[in-house]
Amino acid sequence: MLAKPLAFTHTVTERFLRYVLIDTQSDPASPTCPSTEKQKNLGRMLAAELQAMGIADAHLDEHGYVYATIPATTDKQVPAICFCSHMDTSPDCSGANVKPQIVKNYQGGDIVLRPDIGPIGGLQGGRVEVPVIRTADHPALADQIGHDIITTDGTTLLGADNKAGVAEIMDAAQFLMQHPEIKHGTIKILFTPDEEIGRGVDKVDLKKLGAAFAYTMDGESAGCIEDETFSADGATITIEGVSTHPGFAKGKMEHAIKIAAAIVDRLPKDTCSPETTEGKEGFLHPIGISGALEKASIGFIVRDFTDEGLKEKETLLESIVKGVMKDYPRSTWRMEVTPQYRNMKQVIDRHPEIVDYAIEAIERAGLTPVRGSIRGGTDGSRLSFMGLPCPNIFAGEHAFHSRLEWVSRQDMEKAAETIVHLAMIWEERA
Ligand SMILES: [Zn+2]
Repeated sequence: MLAKPLAFTHTVTERFLRYVLIDTQSDPASPTCPSTEKQKNLGRMLAAELQAMGIADAHLDEHGYVYATIPATTDKQVPAICFCSHMDTSPDCSGANVKPQIVKNYQGGDIVLRPDIGPIGGLQGGRVEVPVIRTADHPALADQIGHDIITTDGTTLLGADNKAGVAEIMDAAQFLMQHPEIKHGTIKILFTPDEEIGRGVDKVDLKKLGAAFAYTMDGESAGCIEDETFSADGATITIEGVSTHPGFAKGKMEHAIKIAAAIVDRLPKDTCSPETTEGKEGFLHPIGISGALEKASIGFIVRDFTDEGLKEKETLLESIVKGVMKDYPRSTWRMEVTPQYRNMKQVIDRHPEIVDYAIEAIERAGLTPVRGSIRGGTDGSRLSFMGLPCPNIFAGEHAFHSRLEWVSRQDMEKAAETIVHLAMIWEERA
């Protein structure tokens, strides 16, 4: 069905430009929730702005989560739908003193971030380094002709991951509050801290939230919807060798470090690693090694889109270890596997309408839907297994966690429109 365009006066870009000025970097070394108190500065601002829209229950809680409810405008029984974004930015790149710049009506070509001040950071290893968003490295720029592209000044990240999503939800919320004639069920808003350090849903109160289904607004290119993530395990191999005095070790010593090194050496070279895989291929990836003569251990992460794929990789690891250990008959080993998270598709497939409606909403916003999978985990994968099925919709963010991060005004506006259409479709189908 062909939808009427929404009579939207967007506020998303103005909001985004304000939100990115607030430093909300999270910190994996901190034990508190939120990991950094400064994330609450944005949370307080968002709660106040939601209140100002007339959303009476909007508030920031003690753990740094913002909750809000847009009341239903229909008598129909419509499941409560939640839109969710994270407020923190990645610890990988500075998020302080962000100075956004706008390239209006982009006409193609590389974007030089600070032509006015020349090289950033001066000479590095004798080479002048000027931050440039190159079309060769960022093919998505080809879809942005005529758009207004927001970048950094090359010294920090931008924070479009995920303040683009935050601003889009806020824009849609304001639109819905100003247009009570638009029929929709109860809409819940959730802004979370600490997603970038994997703790985004640690303290979420799903009962208080009271949503049946949710969408994170945290995807990349306009039109994308992702309903699949990796399934993930951790695996640790511990080796106990045979220690003797090195002066009297002939025929006796079995060196745990050397055993560990032999195991790493026998990992597949052309497959099954992050650097040799893409798309739906999984991998087996050593992330840490420690040891001494007597004892050594290797930590792995195991990733695949299916449980069987995970199992296969763990069996492969086990057989490599067994093969190596044949040369060390008096040493012992053990392998421990710890489940980390599971592909959200296992949950979302039980409710196909969640993705079907999102695809329709993206179409009504005038975009071509692209269904994808995420080679990683999201808060949505954890939420899905906590009982809140939660695929991921595009927010328009690109090159995130880097100084070259960018987003376009037009893509953010399309994301806000997608949210409104989605709210309407859930009501129409109820
Ligand atoms: Zn994100």
